[in-house]
Amino acid sequence: MQSMRDVFFLTSGVMKAPTFAVRPSWFINPLSVTRLANTVAVCVCDDGDLVLVDVGWSAAQCEDPARVLGRARAASLGLVVTSEDSLLMQLRRLGFSADRVKAIIATHLHLDHVGGVEDFPNAEVICADRELRSYAHFDPAYRVADLARAGRLRPLPLEGIQGFDDAVDPFGDGFLRLFGLFGHSRGSLAVIIDAPTWLFVHIGDAVYQTWEYAQPGTSILARFTAWRRSDLEHGHQRLRALQADACSPMLVPSHDLDVFHGLPQVPSTLLSEAPRS
Ligand SMILES: [Zn+2]
Repeated sequence: MQSMRDVFFLTSGVMKAPTFAVRPSWFINPLSVTRLANTVAVCVCDDGDLVLVDVGWSAAQCEDPARVLGRARAASLGLVVTSEDSLLMQLRRLGFSADRVKAIIATHLHLDHVGGVEDFPNAEVICADRELRSYAHFDPAYRVADLARAGRLRPLPLEGIQGFDDAVDPFGDGFLRLFGLFGHSRGSLAVIIDAPTWLFVHIGDAVYQTWEYAQPGTSILARFTAWRRSDLEHGHQRLRALQADACSPMLVPSHDLDVFHGLPQVPSTLLSEAPRS
């Protein structure tokens, strides 16, 4: 893997959740809904290959979620997608072909984060090895059997690197480092993206919304979906420490739409192109 020349972020459609489940106050209209992003980081290497952090939904899931996911699950996720919302279609519109995606780093293996791996057959799927142990038990939110059958998983142990005692540098180049942020799932990860423009940390579902670590508290949805709540809260402490770090990294939760709106959303090469007259 070479150095990284660009990073931008896309969302694979949106999801809707009851506001009381994701916001701090109980004094909320029980009928109001909050829109959630499904944020994917797109890292562009010097040779034009791509590494994605998470991948969102597949083209088939976006085309007809009720048929592919089942009507009940699509409805319970509050999924709002069109056929244009898969990463495959969005990257294609930006001029990137699917075969350039060489790796997908999964913050964890829930379907909303890895549904789209089927659209990128050249990509290995990297996750924490302890995340895989979740698959010893049946969990309909996971699709490890499909991935394992296809021989595409590269589960990595988390060891000590540069100030972390549970981290790994998957390509050995320092541009992307993964560290454990367990609690949402057994092996959920954060991904440090050392981009030319800024230091981003994709934190997956360690929180659904930024307030959950910015002020002590955990949303109803986060508590309901957590693998282990004590680990989740330990992760929040870690995020507070990270936020206070002198290099002021930008923390990116997968599902916080406000955060997504503040991120770069097109390749910088497109931004720097002179307007056509
Ligand atoms: Zn999620």
